[in-house]
Amino acid sequence: MIRIGIAGIPHSAKGKGTEAGIIKLRELGLDAMEVQFGRNVYMTEEAARAGAAVAKKEDVSLSVHAPYYVNLASKSEQTRQKSKDWIMKSARVAAALGATMVTIHAAREEQPDVVRESFRELVKALKKEKITVPLGIETMGDLGEFGSLDDVLDVVRKVPGTDVVVDFAHLYARTDGGLKTREDFEAIFDKIMAVKTGPLHIHFSGIEYKNSREVRHVPFGSGGPDIGLFARTLTACRRDATVICESPLLEEDALKLKGVFRSLQ
Ligand SMILES: [Zn+2]
Repeated sequence: MIRIGIAGIPHSAKGKGTEAGIIKLRELGLDAMEVQFGRNVYMTEEAARAGAAVAKKEDVSLSVHAPYYVNLASKSEQTRQKSKDWIMKSARVAAALGATMVTIHAAREEQPDVVRESFRELVKALKKEKITVPLGIETMGDLGEFGSLDDVLDVVRKVPGTDVVVDFAHLYARTDGGLKTREDFEAIFDKIMAVKTGPLHIHFSGIEYKNSREVRHVPFGSGGPDIGLFARTLTACRRDATVICESPLLEEDALKLKGVFRSLQ
């Protein structure tokens, strides 16, 4: 099954909170939400448990996005420690939400050893708390930062408890638009499926970029990876997947994406 959802609360339920957002998504015919802890982990575990009940009833699958300030390879010891705290807090709330993934921007610096060892520590600490929600490392849209697909898969291979969140718009930006053919998409899915079993967690949107660096996420059709090619190659993988639409149009574009997948069935 391929679930399609959005990053955060739909525009049509803006300001009404996570639970109303979940109900709205179901009304629209969407079935996933990535709860955004962009600046901080604002949700209590108690509120998360209430959200989990609504999500279960509406059959909307939840994931969580850890704060954007996380940088496990920062030069500042304080930032590294804070980053671990944000991830731990995100994972606790994710567990209470019944979320399938904690999505993480791991590090701004290309320091694979530091990132890998930090994840090793984090998984160990979570295990002590009996939290098993996977730590999903996102592929990033800037050539200078940690987060190529190979960077991420190397950690996933070596540290059980971590997982990959593949952001196609970011990969498109990072490779200066080098994600054009069906073979380009297949190469990505092949690499991922060689490393992990189980459902795939995906971010998708249009993107503007400059010099192998993302500028901003944009609506479908204004630049970025081709939706049709993406949908065809993902469908051919025959894996369960959740696709989170990160276009600024949120549900409008998520519904477009849903239409594309449906036309392939
Ligand atoms: Zn992200």
